[in-house]
Amino acid sequence: MAIQDSKLEKELPTLEEFLINSPPGSEATIKVSAYEYNTQYPPQKWQIALEELQLFCKNESCKGIRFFEPTKEKIYPQEGKGELLFLSYQCKNCEDTIKIYPILFHLQDSNKATIVKIGEWPSFGTPTPTRLLSLVGSEKDYFLKGRRAENQGLGIGAFAYYRRVVENQKNRIFDEIIKVVELTKSDTSLADALRNAKNETQFTKAVESLKGGIPDSLLIDGHNPLTLLHSALSEGLHAESDEDCLEFANTIRIVLSAFAERIGEILKDQSELKQALSKLLSKKTNS
Ligand SMILES: [Zn+2]
Repeated sequence: MAIQDSKLEKELPTLEEFLINSPPGSEATIKVSAYEYNTQYPPQKWQIALEELQLFCKNESCKGIRFFEPTKEKIYPQEGKGELLFLSYQCKNCEDTIKIYPILFHLQDSNKATIVKIGEWPSFGTPTPTRLLSLVGSEKDYFLKGRRAENQGLGIGAFAYYRRVVENQKNRIFDEIIKVVELTKSDTSLADALRNAKNETQFTKAVESLKGGIPDSLLIDGHNPLTLLHSALSEGLHAESDEDCLEFANTIRIVLSAFAERIGEILKDQSELKQALSKLLSKKTNS
């Protein structure tokens, strides 16, 4: 029994993990390290040191994941009593963006507490990148509905919205890859294979029929994003729980986002290269 308890203890999230990963309305038991706070007056309080969070900062000078430090170093909860606390954090990079979490905090003992996330401002989750929104095109509204469902932990809903977006934007996704293949002048047979695959009615069928890979520049951590999307879409259809669906929905969004970024970078680099070359060439012909 004791072994089981300690195993359970290990799996509890920390306060920081809970704040970063759980949408508002979530309730959890978390692990804490509370130390007695020496005060002359009863009731006895405890102190818990707050740690930095890694969060998305929307400030122009950041626009990415940055360290946020707590504006107060510690909280002083009372044991066995629920309290409403406001935790606030400031981006260490721009020193401008603030994140605020109203929470209900109930210290159980020196290493365990229950917590409810009452809210979060600015709202939970990283904003959807512009490049991703332009990739999903006319399905943008459905994509954002999927995002809302995902933020609220509604796995089946989020998966269904994302699946619809990928299926309906199959042509667009393939066209973007074809554009990259043509611009970077990789293998011409690959562009033909992509065009053929695109003719399949379903995204998953199109990926299955695609012979050969995609340009290395489009790989995400060494993996083909089409294969990653394919497996998340097909496994998600057979997922048994809302939690599993949420995980697949999360994968789909992360892969799509990385894919849109990658394509955007390549196309931007290529157009800059073209401009630089044409400037250089016009200088040569003028001189
Ligand atoms: Zn910042």
